[in-house]
Amino acid sequence: MTRPLLGAGGREECVMALIVQKFGGTSVKDAERLNNVADIVTSTYKEGNDVVVVVSAQGDTTDDLIAKAAEINDRPSKREMDMLLSSGEQISAALLAMAIERMGYPVVSLLGWQAGFDTSSDYGNARIKRVDPSRIKQELDKRRIVVVTGFQGVNRYGDMTTLGRGGSDTSAVALAAALNADLCQIYTDVDGVYTADPNKVPTAKKIDQITYDEMLELATLGAKVLHNRSVEMAKRYHVNLEVLSSFTGHPGTIVKEVVKNMEKSHVSGVAKDKDVARLALVGLQDRPGVAFKIFSLLANEKINVDIILQSIGRDESKDISFTVARGDAEEAKKILAAHRIEKLPIVNDQFELCGLITIKDIEKSTKYPNSAKDQKGRLLCGAPQDDHEFTSAFASDMMSDVLAYGQGQSLLLTGLLNQQV
Ligand code: ADP
Ligand code: ASP
Ligand code: MG
Repeated sequence: MTRPLLGAGGREECVMALIVQKFGGTSVKDAERLNNVADIVTSTYKEGNDVVVVVSAQGDTTDDLIAKAAEINDRPSKREMDMLLSSGEQISAALLAMAIERMGYPVVSLLGWQAGFDTSSDYGNARIKRVDPSRIKQELDKRRIVVVTGFQGVNRYGDMTTLGRGGSDTSAVALAAALNADLCQIYTDVDGVYTADPNKVPTAKKIDQITYDEMLELATLGAKVLHNRSVEMAKRYHVNLEVLSSFTGHPGTIVKEVVKNMEKSHVSGVAKDKDVARLALVGLQDRPGVAFKIFSLLANEKINVDIILQSIGRDESKDISFTVARGDAEEAKKILAAHRIEKLPIVNDQFELCGLITIKDIEKSTKYPNSAKDQKGRLLCGAPQDDHEFTSAFASDMMSDVLAYGQGQSLLLTGLLNQQV
């Protein structure tokens, strides 16, 4: 694929393609890894492509910054947290640009706001409203490699925002969409997307191709190899995505709309999310509007509710259980309590009360695995104590449409599967 482009001297050159390459924390963790990234980027550039690079903070930098903040103030404002956390990506962008410079290639690094990332004002979990890629385009026209900080943008007050943990994937896909890039490559520390987390399940198999919808299920249920918002965005804007390793050079996983061999399909993958809290509201009035009220209250406070289960009404009352991110559980409890939904009990598989909702109690509730069906009719069941064994059993069996829930975690086997496992 070639496209005409006005080169530095004003002459028309033929650029093969525009490629966005994103490198995660492990891929840029030290000088050696940065030099390796510089090799990958400059080889792509040498082939005649335009290259825009998105980087995460080095190694555990973001976690270290969070720990540093806690040493100073146990309740820092979200604005100052974003001011702090966005610095991690600035370091890697500048260092990578220096590595590329040293190799003799034209390069410029840009912060999120310079790269045109306009976001909502929600510090710590900002949404990308718009990407204005004009500065990047100017730099590409000069045949420069452009290195952009992932995970960050600027809000309408001109303040730095961050996109939520793992958000650099979303930065990369947003840029690929705004630039109408030919390909968005997500370089990471594994060879691609696997049927289960390869670091936990050694028998997991690499998937060569996966649909956006299947990838979204895996990402939403905890396969952190891709930030779930990046998959949603890739689907919406038809971004060609490839997940691959910055270490091995092996072909990765292609995420795309239609995948061949649908008829031979089996299980596409298993994901596990440790950061889920289940809240159960029991004894609610069984009348229309009750569920609406609960979920509107949470939606207004931007708490995402995922899996929802409603019991059949009995004695004019019903129960509703739902999952939220573990970090949102206390906030959800407060919101509902403030609206006189004061009791947030946890329940066992007979829907018997076993405690009140605090993070600790939710952990306790893992002693009471559930068996039920969710709204889509998928089977919910309790995970046995050894969830690794459970995950591998599912990853290597050909089962579909089973959702396992227990131990404060959930496991999902997506339906409509494309891959022989
Ligand atoms: P990066 O720092 O490159 O963004 P992440 O740590 O966010 O990398 O994501 C990569 C990790 O995702 C892998 O090291 C792996 O442990 C984990 N992972 C979880 N589920 C999967 C899966 N189904 N396929 C591949 N990796 C997975
Ligand atoms: N550095 C951020 C994080 O650790 C963003 C990212 O890596 O995608 O969450
Ligand atoms: Mg990541």
